[in-house]
Amino acid sequence: MGFSQWLSLTFIFHAFLSLPISSEPFLSPEVLPQIPVNFLDLAKSPEVFDWMVGIRRKIHENPELGFEEFETSKLIRAELDQMGIPYKYPLAQTGVVGYIGTGSPPFVAIRADMDALAMQESVEWEHKSKVPGKMHACGHDAHVAMLLGAAKILQDHRLELQGTVVLVFQPAEEGGGGAKKMLDDGALENVDAIFGIHVAASYPIGTVASRSGPILAGNGFFEAVISGKGGHAAIPQHTIDPILAASHIIVSLQHLVSREADPLDSQVVTVGKFQGGGAFNVIPDSVTIGGTFRAFSKESFIQLKQRIEEVITKQASVQRCNATVIFNENEKPFYPVTVNDKDLHEFFQKVAGDILGTQNILDKQPTMGAEDFSFYAEVIPGYFFSLGMKNETQGRFESGHSPNFRVNEDALPYGAALHASLATRYILEKQSKLNPPKGSIHDEL
Ligand SMILES: [Zn+2]
Ligand SMILES: [Zn+2]
Repeated sequence: MGFSQWLSLTFIFHAFLSLPISSEPFLSPEVLPQIPVNFLDLAKSPEVFDWMVGIRRKIHENPELGFEEFETSKLIRAELDQMGIPYKYPLAQTGVVGYIGTGSPPFVAIRADMDALAMQESVEWEHKSKVPGKMHACGHDAHVAMLLGAAKILQDHRLELQGTVVLVFQPAEEGGGGAKKMLDDGALENVDAIFGIHVAASYPIGTVASRSGPILAGNGFFEAVISGKGGHAAIPQHTIDPILAASHIIVSLQHLVSREADPLDSQVVTVGKFQGGGAFNVIPDSVTIGGTFRAFSKESFIQLKQRIEEVITKQASVQRCNATVIFNENEKPFYPVTVNDKDLHEFFQKVAGDILGTQNILDKQPTMGAEDFSFYAEVIPGYFFSLGMKNETQGRFESGHSPNFRVNEDALPYGAALHASLATRYILEKQSKLNPPKGSIHDEL
């Protein structure tokens, strides 16, 4: 590194710490950890914390479903305007992408999802959902608040950023594949890496959990209509019974995982929908079934999809019925497997360890859940992690998608500080790699 480069980077670095410039070496292991610590102090200050809590509660009261997050998006843009952060809008209908820093490389993205779920909130509290049948039961309201919190901290340090932080507020994580549409609309143009947080009731407050490699499954949905010939229940010989056919189909589908898949290759086929008939003494004309299938590799996923279609149509014909199968990818796109980048995992452990202590960086076992963050991590290095919320002194925190789901707002500063620190440290490390010490460059060879 040349002296002038060293000097400018040293200046940037010290500006982050608000310390006078000294002769300490740039990226010194003693001082670098101070960035996330300082950011956590900022995120916990009443100015940032109370503001984040207010935003989260406002969004919680007005939940909006996927691709309908108009008010949430408006609120985000109003806050970005207030902070003087430029942004692009709309992407994927309601999505917003903000930019903090120089506007030049390196670019690092931090992401929040904005959508709620179609379910009724059961928690009685002052800021309960005001919209019947809609609820933020997955914590996406907290995700937005934490990303705005990070934006506030980063914007205050924008002059010290030698790169650009990209704030990704996306719609429709819950099945709609908003991330895919954000990508199609150019949300990650020029971006080198992306980080995503999900709140988790299963881990204690002040901890994070994740791992390198595949962490969440690939997911798809299917629906099939099995058609027979309806008639009187007492004269089955004059009918073709689709209920019996659908029952055979469902049992046969269970053989895909238990008999065809490698027992060491996790897969799931679940039929969650079975609709047909309405009277005790009538055999209906048709039955509709639907479900989800999940796998941890692309090959297994494609194999499952193909076999689901075959089993449904062929088993239907054994029972003298016809079947049509749809996977409805337009409305419910297949989610790829979420794979955490190996280098980002090491980087994450360093940065999160500096904030929380290494003992609070937990290993997360992969689960068959799915996340559309996977679309981002398919095209650029991505890293997705859980943020702990559990605190027994504050009662039980239910897991996501429960009508009793609650967010522990004490987790918000951790999320904001992690976002801000990961982005800042990523840019610093990338810069130091882009401008290595002169003596180490041998690319003339
Ligand atoms: Zn969810
Ligand atoms: Zn979620």
